[in-house]
Amino acid sequence: MKQEIIDRLLRYVKIDTQSDPESNSTPSTLKQFDLANMLVNELKGMGISQVSIDDKCYVYASLPSNIPVGHSAYGKVPAIGFVAHVDTSPDTSGANVNPQIIENYTGGDIVLPADNNIIIKMDENKSLQRCIGHTIITTDGTTLLGSDDKSGVTAIMTAIKSLIDNPQILHGDIRIGFTPDEEIGRGANYFNVEKFNASYAYTIDGEMPGEINKETVSANACIVRAYGRDIHPGYAKDIMVNSIRAIADIIALMPRDMAPETTEGYEPYIHPHKISGSVDKTELQILFRDFKTEGLDKQKEIMESIVAKVQPQHPKTKIELEIVEYYRNMLNDLEKQPNGLDYLWEACQRVGVEPFWSPIRGGTDGSRLSAMGLPTPNIYTGGQNFHSKTEWVSIDFLEKSVATIIELAKVWTEQSIKN
Ligand SMILES: [Zn+2]
Repeated sequence: MKQEIIDRLLRYVKIDTQSDPESNSTPSTLKQFDLANMLVNELKGMGISQVSIDDKCYVYASLPSNIPVGHSAYGKVPAIGFVAHVDTSPDTSGANVNPQIIENYTGGDIVLPADNNIIIKMDENKSLQRCIGHTIITTDGTTLLGSDDKSGVTAIMTAIKSLIDNPQILHGDIRIGFTPDEEIGRGANYFNVEKFNASYAYTIDGEMPGEINKETVSANACIVRAYGRDIHPGYAKDIMVNSIRAIADIIALMPRDMAPETTEGYEPYIHPHKISGSVDKTELQILFRDFKTEGLDKQKEIMESIVAKVQPQHPKTKIELEIVEYYRNMLNDLEKQPNGLDYLWEACQRVGVEPFWSPIRGGTDGSRLSAMGLPTPNIYTGGQNFHSKTEWVSIDFLEKSVATIIELAKVWTEQSIKN
C-alpha cells in the first residue's frame, strides 16, 4: 500500500491547484478542476458509479454499503463521510512542484536540493524525531508541497480503493467529498450537505498522527475605520486631519499579551492583521479569536474602550468600529452526537496511534460543516509546515491516516450492531 500512497500523492501534488483570495468566483481558480476531474475519473475507474462534480468544483461520491441482507448490521449503519480539499495555499507557489523523496530517513536536518538555504531543521521540527526510518517527502525548496491537503485526498482515495479490494470488511454507505477554496476560507460555502447525505463526517486535514481535533476557536472580524481630511501638506496647518495617526494610536493600545505571537493553547487572541489607508481614510482589520464564544464579546468591549480613549485625542477624526460574525467553536455541535468522537478515538487506538484532542487556533471546513448540521471533526495526515517551502509529509504516517479511515468504517459497523 505504501507505494500506492506515494504514487497517488506525487500525482496529485504535481497539479497546481492554488486558490486565489482576490477572485470572487467559485472555484477561485479554474485549475482546481484539473485535480477534481482527475479524482472523478479515478473514482469511476475504481468502479464507483455514484460520482459527480458540480460547476463550483465540489466532488461528491458514494461507496455503497456492502452489508448483506440478513446480516445483523443490515440497514443499521449510518452513512459516514470523509472530506478533503483540493486547493493549496495562496501563501506559496504550488506550480511545478518537484518533490524530493527520502527513503529510510536517518535523522538530521534536510537540505532542499534546489535552494540550499532552505533547510528543514530537526530542532524546529520535533516530529521528525518520530520519523526515523520513514519515507519522507519534501519539496525541492522552490514551492510548497501541497501535502495540505493532497495527503488528505490521497488518504481518502487509498482507503476507498482498499475497501473495494477487501470486500470482507463490512461497511455502511461511505460518502466522499472533495472541496475547492478551503485555504481562502470558502471551502464549505457551497458544500451541499443534503446531497452529501451523511450522518457524520471527518475532514482529513490535520498534522501528526494521534492529533485529532474537535475544537476550533470561535471567530469574529473587527474592522476599525478612521476618516480624516486630506490637503496638500504645504498648506495643511489646522486643516489636515490624518486618519493614519488615529489608527496608529489604536494599535498602540491593543493588548500585547493577547496576541497570536504571545499566546498558545486555549488562550484567546486579538490580532491586527491588515491595514490599508491614506490620510483621508484608514482601515484596520482585526481578528477576534476565543475558544469560548462569550469571549468574543469581551474582545469587542476591549476594542470599544480603546476607540473611546483614542477618539477624544482626535476630535476631527471620525472613528467607526464594525464587527462581522465568522465561525463558532465546532465542539458545541459535535457534542450533540458524541459517538462519532468516541469511534474516532477507538479507531486511532486500533491502528496503534495514541490519540489526543488538540484545539485548533483557527477555523476548519469542519467547523463550518458542523454548524451546517454535519458534525465533522478533523483527522491527522502526517504532514507538517503547511503553506511553506519547508512543508513535508511522512508516508508511513500517511499510511496511519488511511488505516484510521478504514478502521472508522469498521467501528461504525460494529457499534451499530451493538446499539
Ligand atoms: Zn488544509
